[in-house]
Amino acid sequence: MRIDLHTHSSVSDGTDTPTQLVRKAAEAGLDVLGLTDHDTFDGLREARLAAEAVGVVVLPGIEMSCQLEGASVHLLGYGCNPHFEELLDELARVRVGRSGRLPEMLTKLAELGMPLTETEIAEQVGASPSLGRPHVADAMVAKGYVKDRQEAFDRFLYEGGPAYANRYSCQLRRGVELIRRAGGVPVIAHPWGRGRDRELTPAMLSELAMEYRLEGIEVDHPDHDADTRVRLRALAERLGLLTLGSSDHHGLGKVNNPLACETTDPAVYTELVRRIRARGGQL
Ligand code: AMP
Ligand code: ZN
Ligand code: FE
Ligand code: FE
Repeated sequence: MRIDLHTHSSVSDGTDTPTQLVRKAAEAGLDVLGLTDHDTFDGLREARLAAEAVGVVVLPGIEMSCQLEGASVHLLGYGCNPHFEELLDELARVRVGRSGRLPEMLTKLAELGMPLTETEIAEQVGASPSLGRPHVADAMVAKGYVKDRQEAFDRFLYEGGPAYANRYSCQLRRGVELIRRAGGVPVIAHPWGRGRDRELTPAMLSELAMEYRLEGIEVDHPDHDADTRVRLRALAERLGLLTLGSSDHHGLGKVNNPLACETTDPAVYTELVRRIRARGGQL
């Protein structure tokens, strides 16, 4: 069984529609695909419909924008009830913050000699309810300011970069609680990718596991090198956390994250499903 549990569609900042993504999953030989768009459940219905036709199982998920002392942390939730109001309210607040920071980013880009209009951004966002920096990057590419998303992030859009603007995100402890109360299983995405080990210390992960009932962490992720994976796996074992492996595929938006480049152990997937079922979440 081949299982990839962290992917994005064009409903957030991936480049494949949910239908295209599910078809690609079948072509890549995946049996299970987790769709985890940023801060929205909107792609799940389409993904599920497409999945039936190609014999892939879709595990419903979300990647929630959280923060810990101001630093960005991504929290995956699997099997959440997509009608649980407190979670929906929080996600709506995050999405408002996503759009709300755009004027500040556009001002900074204009000052850097890269003017863009809100209409040019909207063309990249399309029907996505979840505006992200990758859409801004795509608009920069379309204008010829940079050659690809990666260059836009490396030079201008990275956290704290010259065209970066902060935005509202959910407190991490509250995010973990909300996902659990929605019947879901909370898992921290790429916990030690891109320098996040500074905030997400072993002590903090321990507190989240013991006091907030965090249940898993991503270990096999393209942003983790071999040594990081060894250390994370040891920590997970000590804390009794599930360890997941996923591509974080974004279609053409991230060339280093092809679908199924990292996978999750079938026994871990079975345990996720068991827990979601036991607490009445959505499969
Ligand atoms: P946002 O949702 O606006 O905070 O943008 C976050 C998304 O941008 C992430 O989920 C990635 O898809 C992408 N991203 C963030 N940092 C980088 C980076 N340094 N290089 C490439 N992509 C990045
Ligand atoms: Zn993304
Ligand atoms: Fe992420
Ligand atoms: Fe992601």
